Amino acid sequence: MSKHIFVTGGVVSSLGKGLTSASIACLLEKRGLRVRMQKLDPYINVDPGTMNPYEHGEVYVLDDGSETDLDLGHYERFSNGPLSRKSNYTTGQIYLKVIEKERRGEFLGKTVQVIPHITDEIKAAVRGLAGPDVDVVITELGGTVGDIEGLPFLEAIRQIPLEIGKDHCLFIHLTLVPYLKAAKEMKTKPTQHSVGLLRQIGIQPDVLVVRTERPMGEENAAKIALFCNVEKNAVIEEVDKEFSIYEVPLGLVDHGLDQLIVDKLKLNAGPLDMSDWRDLMHRMRHPEHEVTIAVVGKYIEHRDAYKSIYESLDHAGVANSARVIIKRIEAEELEQQGPEMLLKGVDGLLVPGGFGMRGVEGKVQAVRFAREFEIPYFGICLGMQTAVIEYARNVLSLENADSTEFSSDTPHPVICMLEDQKTIVKKGGTMRLGAHPCVLHPDSKSAEAYGTEQISERHRHRYEFNPEYRSQFEESGMLLAGTSPDGKLVEVVELPDHPWFVAVQFHPEFKSKPLTPHPLFQGFVAAALQRHHERVQMPVSRSETE
Ligand code: GLN
Repeated sequence: MSKHIFVTGGVVSSLGKGLTSASIACLLEKRGLRVRMQKLDPYINVDPGTMNPYEHGEVYVLDDGSETDLDLGHYERFSNGPLSRKSNYTTGQIYLKVIEKERRGEFLGKTVQVIPHITDEIKAAVRGLAGPDVDVVITELGGTVGDIEGLPFLEAIRQIPLEIGKDHCLFIHLTLVPYLKAAKEMKTKPTQHSVGLLRQIGIQPDVLVVRTERPMGEENAAKIALFCNVEKNAVIEEVDKEFSIYEVPLGLVDHGLDQLIVDKLKLNAGPLDMSDWRDLMHRMRHPEHEVTIAVVGKYIEHRDAYKSIYESLDHAGVANSARVIIKRIEAEELEQQGPEMLLKGVDGLLVPGGFGMRGVEGKVQAVRFAREFEIPYFGICLGMQTAVIEYARNVLSLENADSTEFSSDTPHPVICMLEDQKTIVKKGGTMRLGAHPCVLHPDSKSAEAYGTEQISERHRHRYEFNPEYRSQFEESGMLLAGTSPDGKLVEVVELPDHPWFVAVQFHPEFKSKPLTPHPLFQGFVAAALQRHHERVQMPVSRSETE
């Protein structure tokens, strides 16, 4: 029977609950346990895919096409249990299910209420991940204890131990112990209050993971244990990790969290082996090279909007023994100032995915600069579409070539919606989503990077390369390096005469992990590093003289 861990958060939001949950999964897997992860989000949106990246950061896409919260990206980067639609539920989805049942008459005229109907649906969502091949289900609750919207979720997880037995469940609560400069003291009261709130609901946390800026000391830990009714060895300190998020699991090991969980849940676990993770940290801390990659995007000031891209670049950096310095460039700024100044001295350019026309012309200018000055270029989704638009305009001389997303009456719709997508009018869940197979050209840089011609990658887009223009592109030297297996959809384009110009319709960033960096990111960073070395040997680069 699967055991359950519930991770809640108190005091403030943004404590890194997702990272801590993912790190716990990492540790348990390293002890040979089979783990599944899940996030319950108290917001009402049914479809996280339609949420603004400014408010919520990136939309993370899974193999099965579900559009989820970005914390699931952490889950996949830190652990290996499969994720699916069952791994992320919002209040909206839970209510929708209950309301649909009510419409179908399944409640037989009964009054439909938060307790028991909504809480039953939440429990079903949690229990849905358990199974004979799963040792531990980790359920992270979004939001902060005390939020009104989180109450049905807390009530539901309170009920679960009553049904499956107390020793099958573990409650881990994440809190903050702030340091007050004026008092020169760490303060435990907010933690006491948030645990107090949990206990009012009927949940006694078994473990407290305490986020702090600096070590809090024995005395504070003892105080927290006493006031929060938690054993002293179950007060685990998690000091801010300045260097890298990948330090978090090791920090938790140092405080014995893996053993504590194994003991409390009486898990049949093997010994802990973190050697690959320690090696990763060592390589991260001791890079031999440095490389600067520009990311030209639209939500650049929001740190989380391109989360998986930044992470993937870091992973690829480690694989190349390089520290990747990411230069974030706002596409609209590039549009106004031109690429020369902003892209000066960069070793590689990446244009990520995006929607809507703001900033697109800046991205097109950036692509042109990379193409003409032979700067390694990696286009992802919209970054592929802008590469196609740029090539059409400036190489094929197709004036005003565009995507119909940005110009419905362009004379050259090189990117467009294909016939079978045109009938779709709703916004939510109407994209080409999730994993699709792709076949690579044997003589492409992509096939070389992947080491295979058969790949599968995740998608999230509405528009496609317009097949009517294929021959024009091919005749002038662009390689259509990857297509859907039926050959109909163009998934990868490359410029064989360029040092490294690869643009893909899919999102490789969702499949990169620190220990298994994505091959295209690796290839891209390797090419950028090569350019960097050439630049260092020839201090004045071509781009700076022309
Ligand atoms: N807006 C483009 C489309 O819908 C690209 C989407 C993306 O970059 N994720 O096709």
